[in-house]
Amino acid sequence: MQLYNIKHPEQVVSFKQAVLQGLGKDQGLFFPATIPSFTEQEINELLALPFVERAAKILGAFIGDEFSQEEVKELATNAFNFPAPVVQVSDNIWTLELFHGPTLAFKDFGGRFMSQVLRLLAKEKKITILTATSGDTGAAVAHAFYKIPNIEVVVLYPKGRISELQEKLFCTLGQNIKTIAIDGDFDACQALVKQAFDDAELREAIGLNSANSINISRLLAQITYYFEAYARLPRDKQVVVSVPSGNFGNLTAGLLAKAMGLPVAKFIAATNANDTVPRYLASGNWEPQQTRATLSNAMDVSRPNNWPRIEELFKVKGWDLHADLFSAPVSDATTVQTILELDKLGYVSEPHGAVGFRVLADALQPGQVGVFLGTAHPAKFKAEVEKVLGRDIGLPEALAYHQQLPLLSENFPADYARLKEFLLTNTAAAQANKAK
Ligand SMILES: *Cc1c(COP(=O)(O)O)cnc(C)c1O
Repeated sequence: MQLYNIKHPEQVVSFKQAVLQGLGKDQGLFFPATIPSFTEQEINELLALPFVERAAKILGAFIGDEFSQEEVKELATNAFNFPAPVVQVSDNIWTLELFHGPTLAFKDFGGRFMSQVLRLLAKEKKITILTATSGDTGAAVAHAFYKIPNIEVVVLYPKGRISELQEKLFCTLGQNIKTIAIDGDFDACQALVKQAFDDAELREAIGLNSANSINISRLLAQITYYFEAYARLPRDKQVVVSVPSGNFGNLTAGLLAKAMGLPVAKFIAATNANDTVPRYLASGNWEPQQTRATLSNAMDVSRPNNWPRIEELFKVKGWDLHADLFSAPVSDATTVQTILELDKLGYVSEPHGAVGFRVLADALQPGQVGVFLGTAHPAKFKAEVEKVLGRDIGLPEALAYHQQLPLLSENFPADYARLKEFLLTNTAAAQANKAK
């Protein structure tokens, strides 16, 4: 599979290179030079397969030139070892529950697939993964790479802006997982990561790699579950898919599924008050504002880092941004009302899923069916959900276990020099390099 850098199309890399580098020159995002596509008959055959087998075929269409079909099957089997059920919520609306993995959020799909790919690539050179998280990516990455040989993970997150439950889930692991609470918001964390990637000396010294939603391996993994959603819905209606969006990686993967031939009629990008994209689609002006803290905090992003890929995809496919994509924001007040509305329908949701449901329910036309992505388990936002519903919703075992453990995070100001010094003195890759 060949990919080019959107900012510098002359920079072309293989899938393996793109996974190892994360970002291209000038922080450009890698984009597939060709998007494999399936005929209608092939799509129908795919839809009839079990998840892992289907995923191996979808992924093989991209990376089959760099890994054997045997290896791809093994990557998919190890990465996707938990279910993704589609649950009916109302007459015409379903939800794809992506939160049955080890950290109870959809980021387990991308995180676990990426760790499987890197496990194969880290045999030659030690790798340090540096990533910024607004909540869930960090947990998924930390758990996906926990105890994987030759790989160390450093996660930056905005201090005090993720839930205590989220923090406990990934800041208690230790071993090859290091976590740093940054005094600042998510965008500040993301800016530090970008600066580190621009630092050639550091990159080389610690074998720097990114694992946040910009890594192409994560996007490929996420394409697979859109086929699963489609496979479980009635086949005689138009299908609309609603994606609660922050950095827009999940939506990018959905649109790639469509580009491969999955006949989704329309995609919805549902956001919280951080509404850069809905305003952009309405006005044509890209005007990010100060990031605002909301109930759906994993979507508190005002400069979505995957947006250039979406623009590129629409350009390559000749699609019309306004016809094929609908985007609208949901306020916290409406999110609360929607969690109550869903509870009345017999479905316990959390703020992110509720945002996805809200825009979908409001936009769905007669003759269409809709599916919204359930991006996190309600227990990950236990405090918020219980406050709205006025009752205890319990805690799954995986979360309960980590709540007992002490936090192991460091705390830094949003200062690049400080981060660099930490990385050069505390990572195994830097030590190994010095010893040479
Ligand atoms: C990360 C996350 C999102 C946003 O996904 P993007 O790919 O960044 O748009 C939505 N919901 C939850 C629970 C998340 O963790």
